[in-house]
Amino acid sequence: MSENGRTRIVLKSGKDQSLRRFHPWVFSGAIKKIHGSAREGSLVDVYDNKDEFLATGHYQEGSIAVRVLDFEPLETDLDFWEKRIGKAWGLRKELGLTSDKGTSVFRLVNAEGDRMPGLIIDYYGGTAVIQMHSVGMCRNIELIKDALLGIKEAGIHTIYNKSASTLPDKPGIDQRSGFLRGEKSHDVVRENGFAFRVNWKEGQKTGFFIDQRENRKLLGSWSAGRKVLNMFGYTGGFSVYALGGGAEMVHSVDSSGKAIELTRENVELNFPGDKRHEAFAVDAFSYLQDIRDRYNLIILDPPAFAKHQHVLNNALQGYKRLNQRAFEQIAPGGILFTFSCSQAVSRENFRKSVFAAAANARRNVRILHQLSQPPDHPVSLFHPEGEYLKGLVLEVE
Ligand code: SAH
Repeated sequence: MSENGRTRIVLKSGKDQSLRRFHPWVFSGAIKKIHGSAREGSLVDVYDNKDEFLATGHYQEGSIAVRVLDFEPLETDLDFWEKRIGKAWGLRKELGLTSDKGTSVFRLVNAEGDRMPGLIIDYYGGTAVIQMHSVGMCRNIELIKDALLGIKEAGIHTIYNKSASTLPDKPGIDQRSGFLRGEKSHDVVRENGFAFRVNWKEGQKTGFFIDQRENRKLLGSWSAGRKVLNMFGYTGGFSVYALGGGAEMVHSVDSSGKAIELTRENVELNFPGDKRHEAFAVDAFSYLQDIRDRYNLIILDPPAFAKHQHVLNNALQGYKRLNQRAFEQIAPGGILFTFSCSQAVSRENFRKSVFAAAANARRNVRILHQLSQPPDHPVSLFHPEGEYLKGLVLEVE
């Protein structure tokens, strides 16, 4: 036990190096001994094998054994959560996201990027949607809720805990999703002046792919007079921006019928009766079989092909096949916005797959923009795994 009565985790010799470089995870293989009983989700102190204090974090049985909250000793009382979540709010405020000038949706807490590993909180104009990925966060949910309600200027009236699919299956924790405050399940939010209907209870992730905000804006600026194909469109984010940017025609494709229904609603919200848009609930790969040169602006934003490192090769093949189909058919002078949101796929690997696809399609291609996630999805410099969204804007001769 530590002096504070807390369970003490002692690392094997040499296994302290990554913590000394502020990487926020302790892998189970690095642990030499556990003094005291390490309860799932409890706060533990981590020491090197010479008894020097290294970090405090949440313990969990599994490959990542400790998720570090700080490299100084600490208590996770209400004051701690108020300060940490308050700081996260402060960054979004500095970014100009909280003043509701055309944008009412942003990521408020981005796990390791906000020094709260295992915790995601998205903000939808007064509603906070929480996704917890660790037992430690689950044990603190009441304090997290109180800290959120304590940010008066956030005016939070609804808190929805959407962790059923993200929490690990462990005895003694309540994995169910549910409202912690209020009971509103959907709303119309605004992003860069456009309106979007978001249903956090039934939608994918927390309801909206907030991480594409800046990239959608850029897409808008490339859309004038173009024939746009939005593949894997979900609820039509890119499509709405393309229409706003003056596209000649916009086609949205997603395999989910529900997503396509919402796409139509979102287009109608922003551009009532606009005949330039059509949406199709079909599989992306079959749609791309035969589009010939109908489009000169294509967006490829597929779901994560690699959720884990061991399926990396399959994922890279998947990106290559998908991009190759687009390269083979996009009209001359076309623009391709292509993305990967797989954490396991590095920026370099993604670029290599796209390179191979272009070479196979025998098209001359130039990189115009290299894209990433926006600053409300910050990445700790010490935790490069947090940089998951990669994108390229390419011109195809
Ligand atoms: N670009 C979107 C987010 C895309 S998320 C936005 O800005 O909001 C990925 C989407 O791909 C999901 O909506 C999912 O339903 C869809 N999808 C998954 N597999 C698919 C497939 N084989 N064909 C078409 N769509 C697919």
